[in-house]
Amino acid sequence: MDISHIEHIGVAVKNLDEAVSFYENVLGLKCYRVEQVEEQKVKTAFFKIGNTKIELLESTEPEGPIGKFIEKKGEGIHHISFAVKDIKKSLNEVESKGIRLINKEPVPGAENMLVSFLHPKSTFGVLTELCQQRE
Ligand code: ZN
Repeated sequence: MDISHIEHIGVAVKNLDEAVSFYENVLGLKCYRVEQVEEQKVKTAFFKIGNTKIELLESTEPEGPIGKFIEKKGEGIHHISFAVKDIKKSLNEVESKGIRLINKEPVPGAENMLVSFLHPKSTFGVLTELCQQRE
């Protein structure tokens, strides 16, 4: 596995505008991008802190993964995303070590990334994302 850094931390929120306002007006960060990802049924907002980002996630549908997460657990940290060079190779490696995958194949994520999730049952309760920048 070839993890270079924590790419982002995903935070599930009920109301994106209110959450953005907290990060901007209280923490003093600047939202540099808002993007809807149809595949994941989310609207996202991004903040940079050094090499790492915060990704706020608001569900666009109650039945989407973020909608279900908030219904079960409430708002809060949803996932940690690790940047890798070769996501397919990393997924094969993880799977060969007996880790359950949510996505066996990478799917399109925000910010022109390929992403894939490892199942929290295999990762000590933390939904773990691997991501690779698309060229
Ligand atoms: Zn993510």
